[in-house]
Amino acid sequence: MTNAPHTPQVTDHGGGVWSIPVPIPDNPLGHTLVHLLDTGRGPVLIDTGWDDPASWDALERGLAACGTSIADVHGVLVTHHHPDHHGLSGQVREASGAWIAMHEADAAVVRRSRETDPHRWLDYLAAKLTAAGAPDAHTAPLHEARAGGRMRRMPGGRGALPDREIVPGELLDLAGRRLRAIWTPGHTPGHVCLHLEERHPGRGPAGGEVDVPQGNGRLFSGDHLLPGITPHIGLYEDPDDAALADRGDPLGDYLASLERIAALDPAEVLPAHQYAFADAAGRVRELLTHHAERLASLRTLLTGRPLTPWELAESMEWNRPWAEIPYGSRNIAVAEAEAHLRRLVKLGEAEATVGSDPVTYQATS
Ligand SMILES: [Zn+2]
Ligand SMILES: [Zn+2]
Repeated sequence: MTNAPHTPQVTDHGGGVWSIPVPIPDNPLGHTLVHLLDTGRGPVLIDTGWDDPASWDALERGLAACGTSIADVHGVLVTHHHPDHHGLSGQVREASGAWIAMHEADAAVVRRSRETDPHRWLDYLAAKLTAAGAPDAHTAPLHEARAGGRMRRMPGGRGALPDREIVPGELLDLAGRRLRAIWTPGHTPGHVCLHLEERHPGRGPAGGEVDVPQGNGRLFSGDHLLPGITPHIGLYEDPDDAALADRGDPLGDYLASLERIAALDPAEVLPAHQYAFADAAGRVRELLTHHAERLASLRTLLTGRPLTPWELAESMEWNRPWAEIPYGSRNIAVAEAEAHLRRLVKLGEAEATVGSDPVTYQATS
């Protein structure tokens, strides 16, 4: 292996659409697929990649391989605020003067992440974990970090504020293109997919015939719909609005968003990780089945003694035994358990045990 910078393998998807794999350092996902959409006013990027010099270098070289450059970028459309999608947006704007557009709900998360004092965020996280039944041994490092002043910025604290809003259901103002914003909350409150309502360019002549896939255009799906993995679904959180987590039902939102995407019936899906694929409706069915099965198995776990979200997370099936799950991933696992509990409660399949503290849940009879 060499550390010398190399040009990433860009893919020409036809019809003025390319993808550029931008590496995510030290992450099993490997890279973000940044998409480039040609418009009458210059290239527009869909997501930008992780904020890291090697990622920036890959983006620069990738754009060159597509015959353009960062300086030419006219605009940036952000599917959601996560750092593997929005990390380099600010730097792209500085280098090109491009606008950055995002759904208002995720723009609010970016604003909050920039403004919230890291200590306040730590306090919020510790309180939330305690309420979910996390043992003191798990929350102790948070209290220690708080007391010792060992605080970096909170995650996403450097995310760029967008200058335009992506309005759900509307066509984006792009010269010569028909790209419609589809609000797909769940993975984040303001996640959007972008539907390119143009005839699929096909895959070229095959035996004299052009093999044009069936379906309506193409869908840039961000993290919402991926061919081989399921995105993380936690609770929407805001240290300044504790009730938000109580009101929201992100898993319910996610499942509804999946159905919305299947109804669009795109000929091809261009996701932000892994690879492009056809049959969006088939993939949606798989995911709906997966979540239905998972909800049913969690309900079964709740028919014994009542469980806290922490205990439920410990009993759930993960990609490795609970004892081997690292610290940060346990927090994510608990958030996922909470999102499933919320859905079960909304469905009337589980309920909080009256007077429990930390709160426990049981299946309804
Ligand atoms: Zn994400
Ligand atoms: Zn992602």
